[in-house]
Amino acid sequence: MPHRHATILLILIASAVVLGILSGWFWGTAMTEIAWIGRLFLDALKMLIVPLILAAVISGVASLGDVRRLGRTGGITVSYYALTTAIAVFTGLVMVNLIQPGIGIDLSGAASTEHITGREPAGISDILLSLISPNIVAAAANAQLLPLILFAILFSAAVTTLGDRGEPVIAFFNGVNEAMMKLAIWLMYLAPVGIYALVASRLGTAGGGQAFLDQLIAVGWYVLTVIGGLTVHFIVPCLILFFVAGRGRDYVVTMLRALLTAFGTASSSATLSMTMECVRENGVDDRAARFVLPLGSTVNMDGTALYEAVAVMFIAQAYGVALSVGQQAVVFVTATLAAIGAAGIPEAGLVTMILVLNAVHLPLEGIGLLLTVDWFLDRFRTTINVWGDAVGAAVVHRFLPNGEPNVDQTAPRS
Ligand code: ASP
Repeated sequence: MPHRHATILLILIASAVVLGILSGWFWGTAMTEIAWIGRLFLDALKMLIVPLILAAVISGVASLGDVRRLGRTGGITVSYYALTTAIAVFTGLVMVNLIQPGIGIDLSGAASTEHITGREPAGISDILLSLISPNIVAAAANAQLLPLILFAILFSAAVTTLGDRGEPVIAFFNGVNEAMMKLAIWLMYLAPVGIYALVASRLGTAGGGQAFLDQLIAVGWYVLTVIGGLTVHFIVPCLILFFVAGRGRDYVVTMLRALLTAFGTASSSATLSMTMECVRENGVDDRAARFVLPLGSTVNMDGTALYEAVAVMFIAQAYGVALSVGQQAVVFVTATLAAIGAAGIPEAGLVTMILVLNAVHLPLEGIGLLLTVDWFLDRFRTTINVWGDAVGAAVVHRFLPNGEPNVDQTAPRS
């Protein structure tokens, strides 16, 4: 996308978020009338997910060359994910222990959680089982992206062993990927309208400014703890970006369109095409972007991990259960797993939180205390999730061997 267009779009998208908040705040439920416009934009973004993931991962992994290089890139990627997620959970635990937002909370304010607690069984074995799907078409249809990504990695690893016979397959997926990125750019031009409608109508659904403010105040310290923790954690990838990946402020500015889309949609997966386009504009090698971003959009969720830890500790405090250091270590591990297991869709973290609550024997009804404000916090944690992925791509780029041909150096850019 030309630089001038990118700058204008950024201003428009940022204005859309502000105007969306103001409209939803003052016009309240009337704004639900435009929810369909937001839905249209969101569905258009979701429409790209499956073909984009297949094409990006297959062409990305194939372009890495031999399987040993895949191992090295995968190792760097997973180490980055693991390190930043661990730091995020730790930050959350420190914040929630310092602020203690759950003390004195009125338990009668808990909303019904039946629709969440009855939705999915969540154990560690369930997360492991979700890695492989017996039916790849059904996985794609149900937006189960992890089995799709694993299939794509295995498929492309197999294609690279075919020599000349594999070339047309790789060329085909390269072409599909280019077409998806073109569609992503077209959709980006619609983002200001779509994001405005999404933000305004969601605030309208919450009853408008005053009603939402009352809900916020009821769990005010909890909201402050999550947003404070996420703000602190935003800095960690920044430091990695500057000192490890050797990038500057421009990288952050270019990513802002994707970050605001994440805020508007509350979905890392729906934002994926925008993230890939912005990372590309930042000059990140396609080999890094195509491998790291699809995987990251579903497994690397620093924001969600931090939020899971804070939320569970908040529930413990509200119910007057003091969790020992050992139990908090269990929260640390299970919150990490719950974030990995959460899909990149709105409020997925609420469902996987059951795993953490079960692990430390806390009542699942505790989730009811957080329900009313979760859609709001979801937007902040999704933004951090996408930010972590974007920095991950820059880090992996930094460790790719220099001077090697990039499969798409000859491919047309918009
Ligand atoms: N909405 C988040 C995402 O898409 C997941 C969650 O924390 O609920 O990244």
